[in-house]
Amino acid sequence: MDKILVIDDSSVQTEFLYSMLNDNYELIIRHTAKEGLETAIKGGYSLVLLDIVMPDMDGFAFLKELKSMELTRYVPVILLTSLSDAQYEERGLRLGAVDYITKPFNPAIIKARVYTHIQLYHYQMQFKEQAMIDELTGVSNRRRYDTEGASRWEEAIRFELSFSICIFDIDKFKLYNDTFGHPAGDKVITSVAQKVACRFKRSTDLFARYGGEEFVAVFLGSQAESAFEFLKSIRQDVEDMHIPHSSQVSPWVTISVGGVTMTPQAGDKLEDYLKLADTMLYDAKRLGRNQVVWSGPSREQWREK
Ligand code: GH3
Ligand code: MG
Ligand code: MG
Repeated sequence: MDKILVIDDSSVQTEFLYSMLNDNYELIIRHTAKEGLETAIKGGYSLVLLDIVMPDMDGFAFLKELKSMELTRYVPVILLTSLSDAQYEERGLRLGAVDYITKPFNPAIIKARVYTHIQLYHYQMQFKEQAMIDELTGVSNRRRYDTEGASRWEEAIRFELSFSICIFDIDKFKLYNDTFGHPAGDKVITSVAQKVACRFKRSTDLFARYGGEEFVAVFLGSQAESAFEFLKSIRQDVEDMHIPHSSQVSPWVTISVGGVTMTPQAGDKLEDYLKLADTMLYDAKRLGRNQVVWSGPSREQWREK
């Protein structure tokens, strides 16, 4: 059942909406903007019905907050208000509300608009999801990294969280293709991708195919040393798949990983840290492959071998 978040300080209004929509949707009611925002951030809503005039924060400011966060940006918001002035309507729509309904409510119209906007939301999400998946491997693609990587970065700056980014590259993969053929190579890329993707399960984790036989991962909240340990265990997982290879590195298909952990400050650029991760990857290759090289917050380097 779709969840609808209703934020309105008036109990009379929320009870009315509840009686109107409760048969077909799960309604979660909040009476202050602050509580509404805390609830919205938890995610999982297909629609927000938002009152404009509330004592602690007006609906416009609330809408701005929702639209500034990746997790809540796409959820459609219908403004509900007694303000029938066209200027308010324009302001709400410009801020990203999908619709605007003035009180007193007409139940049939509310039901129809709610239904339509939830349908549109599902189509949009389906389309968005498909566009973010790599066709070969079924894991996220570079487009997802480009959009969500930037959001994770912003979150890390905003909440002063430690941020880790790493690049994975399959070792001696050209040789694999030359030995076993390109279609077999495709299967290896898929198996490795799926194996590694299993390890990035937190809601703030991001793992994506960056291109060819390279992948990128982003995760929040780990200290450098534990990030390094985590990636070593993932590297080992890949080796332990025991996919036969004929390189000098190992009898099995292996990966090299370069990464960095730091707490980004306003003004820092994600691409600089991706470049640093790439430099660490280059070192891992140079030092013999099938290993992790990690850079800590003061640029100290950890090497696995
Ligand atoms: P290194 O250990 O230094 O990474 O050696 P490498 O051979 O893996 O590196 P290089 O960058 O020279 O070659 C990458 C190879 O990956 C070349 C390319 O044919 C192969 N490759 C890239 N994308 C795909 C793909 O989608 N499918 C297959 N089968 N092979 C791919
Ligand atoms: Mg490569
Ligand atoms: Mg390679």
